[in-house]
Amino acid sequence: MEKTLNGAKLEVVQGDITQSAMACIVNAANSSLLGGGGVDGAIHRAGGRRILDECVRIRSERGGCPVGEAVITTGGNLKAKHVIHTVGPVWNGGKKGEAEKLGNCYRSALRLAEQHGIASISFPNISTGIYGYPKDEAAEVAIGAVTGVLARKHGFERIQFVCFDFENYDLYVERVGEL
Ligand code: ADP
Repeated sequence: MEKTLNGAKLEVVQGDITQSAMACIVNAANSSLLGGGGVDGAIHRAGGRRILDECVRIRSERGGCPVGEAVITTGGNLKAKHVIHTVGPVWNGGKKGEAEKLGNCYRSALRLAEQHGIASISFPNISTGIYGYPKDEAAEVAIGAVTGVLARKHGFERIQFVCFDFENYDLYVERVGEL
């Protein structure tokens, strides 16, 4: 499924983000930047040691990555040239600023991508795994944040939502279909 918005393709695909052929993939990391489970573990396994080495260096320089912010590393052995690591919020009932923080993840990642001249980027469904964010609400926030960026002047050609599970895939297809 895809839509063209203000000159960029917004795509929804089902699959494994480590196999993405886009210039950049986004990692749903944790604040330590030292790797973890879920998509984070998969990206470090597939991308190899160089990604972790750069994460360790960033961590020593600035002490990790706060929730809603993003850092960039090499893509290592991945097809993607870069990985942007962002830290989603842990779901805590919905009244602890989770939506703002989750939206910030997508906005921070896109800002960093633009600063690096990256025109194509794949996002996983940040915070909807171990961090427990309800998938329908997370989809709403993610699509709102990305379409907000695309509504302004931007340098993107393709932005992809890579949904690993079919529940997310169906939610994204429905919502992007209505844009
Ligand atoms: P978080 O801690 O932000 O919740 P998780 O990695 O646990 O991060 O889950 C985030 C999302 O990533 C979930 O929807 C999960 O299904 C998905 N996911 C897990 N592995 C992959 C993968 N290889 N490619 C794309 N998405 C994945």
